[in-house]
Amino acid sequence: MPSQGKGNRLDASAMMMRLTLPYIVFTLTFICAKNVANAAGDHWCYTEDNCDASTWGGECQTGKQQSPIDFTQKNTIQQNNQVRLRFNRKYSDIQDHFMIKNNGHTIQVQLEDDITSDLVMDGDYFKGSYRFSQLHFHWGSHPDKGSEHVVDGNGYVAELHLVHYSNDYKSLKEAVGTKNRRGLAVLGIFFQLSSEDNPALDPIVEAISKVKRQEDNLVSVQIPLNVSALLPNDLSLWRYYGSLTTPSCNEVVVWTVFKQAVPISRAQWKAFKDSADSGGRSIIDNYRPPQSTINRKVYFFNHVLRERMPDAGELDRNPPLADALYDTAQKSVNSKSSSSDDKNSQNGSNSGRSDVYNSALTGFIFLSIFLQVLITTVLKCR
Ligand SMILES: [Zn+2]
Repeated sequence: MPSQGKGNRLDASAMMMRLTLPYIVFTLTFICAKNVANAAGDHWCYTEDNCDASTWGGECQTGKQQSPIDFTQKNTIQQNNQVRLRFNRKYSDIQDHFMIKNNGHTIQVQLEDDITSDLVMDGDYFKGSYRFSQLHFHWGSHPDKGSEHVVDGNGYVAELHLVHYSNDYKSLKEAVGTKNRRGLAVLGIFFQLSSEDNPALDPIVEAISKVKRQEDNLVSVQIPLNVSALLPNDLSLWRYYGSLTTPSCNEVVVWTVFKQAVPISRAQWKAFKDSADSGGRSIIDNYRPPQSTINRKVYFFNHVLRERMPDAGELDRNPPLADALYDTAQKSVNSKSSSSDDKNSQNGSNSGRSDVYNSALTGFIFLSIFLQVLITTVLKCR
């Protein structure tokens, strides 16, 4: 039955083609998509078709722990134990001056030229202390959008990011470049519209008038500013591992986002909306949409204490800070079962079985591609 044998070989070849073609198409599409993103180069934006968030390249496309995210009942693990956020004495001091910049994407405030400061914070599960570097804002054109993080799909009019880098590093740049997922700690604060001005925001709003148009230079202003006054009273918070929310979206951030929104008046909001980039276009809706939380743990703490960090040399009578939340908590969550993540998985053997299926599928895909290449080569050689 030689002819039948040949037919079988052709059928097998056709089947392999059928099986591998989708993967080849997928790979080519992926490469093309990446090239489109790369073609955008360093230029990125929020609201224009050719440079908005869907075109951002690098880790923004390929990352697995991207930010911002949507905090939902389903993706959040509630922790009822009390945790502390500690700020050093200088963090609560009133700064006599600050620097402000309109970089075309946001309004950024820092305390010194070199994006560092003496403001330090730490807390349970941070594993080390973090130095304040800069703060900046994201805002919307409408009261129900503008924040980067959202809660059950609902956005806020604006979100403030207080950016800190780990004291293990000498600079923000070094911390961003290390690929350490705890390199940065960013505190996120939601704003909601209020009939009254937020006095803590007034110094920044006053200074925005000096940087209405994008400028490379920082402008130094002699206006008193209390960074810690920008925090909400209730520090109930979400915490998760994520990324920078702007290119190159490095996955180096332990995020802390507070549930309680702080006020912003319409006049204060308008000051942000009146800023413009170098081309005179309004800076507006400068937020990235929520990213996937698949395979990520998001924790919510509703008992958070704000404390002062002990000064150097001061005896710390407090119990030691807890660290490695994600390692210990994740272990306990995993050991309990993965039922909250995967409703189909009813016991350990099921999840073990799906691992076997996944391995078999991956092996099959690789084998198919290998055979396809082999068959193509053999046909060419003939
Ligand atoms: Zn930000």
